[in-house]
Amino acid sequence: MYNVMSPKAEEFIDHEEILASLTYAQENKNNRELIEAILEKARACRGISHREALVLLDCELEEQNQKMFDLAMEIKQKFYGNRIVMFAPLYLSNYCINSCVYCPYHAKNKHICRKKLTQEEIKKEVVALQDMGHKRLALETGEDPVNNPIEYVLESIKTIYGIKHKNGAIRRVNVNIAATTVENYKRLKDAGIGTYILFQETYHKENYEKLHPAGPKHDYAYHTEAMDRAMEGGIDDVGLGVLFGLNMYRYDFTGLLMHAEHLEAYKGVGPHTISVPRIRHADDIDPGEFSDAINDDIFAKLVAVLRVAVPYTGLIISTRESVKSRERVLKYGVSQISGGSRTSVGGYAEEEPEEENSAQFDVNDNRTLDQVVKWLLDLGYVPSFCTACYREGRTGDRFMKLVKSGQIANCCLPNALMTLEEYLQDYAAQETKCIGEKVIQEEIKGIQNLLIRQRTMEKIEKIQEGERDFRF
Ligand code: SF4
Ligand code: SF4
Repeated sequence: MYNVMSPKAEEFIDHEEILASLTYAQENKNNRELIEAILEKARACRGISHREALVLLDCELEEQNQKMFDLAMEIKQKFYGNRIVMFAPLYLSNYCINSCVYCPYHAKNKHICRKKLTQEEIKKEVVALQDMGHKRLALETGEDPVNNPIEYVLESIKTIYGIKHKNGAIRRVNVNIAATTVENYKRLKDAGIGTYILFQETYHKENYEKLHPAGPKHDYAYHTEAMDRAMEGGIDDVGLGVLFGLNMYRYDFTGLLMHAEHLEAYKGVGPHTISVPRIRHADDIDPGEFSDAINDDIFAKLVAVLRVAVPYTGLIISTRESVKSRERVLKYGVSQISGGSRTSVGGYAEEEPEEENSAQFDVNDNRTLDQVVKWLLDLGYVPSFCTACYREGRTGDRFMKLVKSGQIANCCLPNALMTLEEYLQDYAAQETKCIGEKVIQEEIKGIQNLLIRQRTMEKIEKIQEGERDFRF
């Protein structure tokens, strides 16, 4: 029985409710009046329900679809302006006891090279990431209580925060590790993590169990209820995601929004971010095996409807996406992207020899961080290395209140410009620097509060003189 307030996975992600929503959306996909009413509701920027969002996703009316894409762009502009937050994944270990059939780290894959970084190796990776200009990382490990116990993850976080190399620093460490206990979430919180990220992969319980035939991840309820435990452990910011292409995308899209509604209703705060990875080729994995792969048009529409449905939630895409696909979805709602990523264990400090393949998936966008930054600037975006909210204690409901009132805009743009200036001073190629300085001069005029604009200009001057790490 569907109950958004239930702590039980099978009740807040109720299969019957998803099926009923899928039918409802099919029946109403050409219902002009209803679709107009949903778009009108969405215009208030307070979000729409999973059923309403699904109707928009299924809508076949050209005019209404265009209105939906326009609205997604408007909402994106209103909440995120031209800013795109940059991050990089850091793979610590690919030892894993699970059996996810879509991931090359699955325990039975004997021809992938298994690696686990020592603290010394982590230091090298972090120095290499700092030398690129990164300030925000997403840690990734497989699930393996012997090789990757929680103590290893905690020690690694401490190591990462402790490295100060030239002007570099990692200022926010987000963590993507397997579902765990409230006690371990408390320890992660105490270690100062930013967002706790855990992808659901699919919300369809039966398929989930088939896709995860053995290992702790097989337990659908334990995995699906992980975010509730994380929040109980004091982690304010959690990041959801499904691996689009594993299962019927309409089913997973609905489950994803029901999960967001559950967190908002039950815990008082919706997800901080939603990631939208699509299945990619990798060692031992052929995406062709998954017949539910989604094409670029559907992918773009998914992103746009998510933007309309959860305006306050950051949307993330990785380098799984091609340059073309990334460019398209940036305008419809994506607010965070990775750049210069390596998906192998230890791939930043030294290029991995081909015979040692330890990557989780093939990267589709192989450009360096500087090339990605320049590309964004050329497209009129402001690459941001901001990590201010977490460091100022603006997390969870405090963060959401500021976002919902629109006040966060007083922080985001100045912080984006100041961190971009740091990047330009310390890491950018000459050409990137030239265009970046022009973009900063132009964008600074968009800071509405004159006092904040003045203070931002002063701080940018100080950054040019060598000072670092200002934030609002
Ligand atoms: Fe292990 Fe995660 Fe890969 Fe599953 S998806 S095999 S849990 S690393
Ligand atoms: Fe994100 Fe906060 Fe920085 Fe805005 S000010 S970009 S919300 S960390």
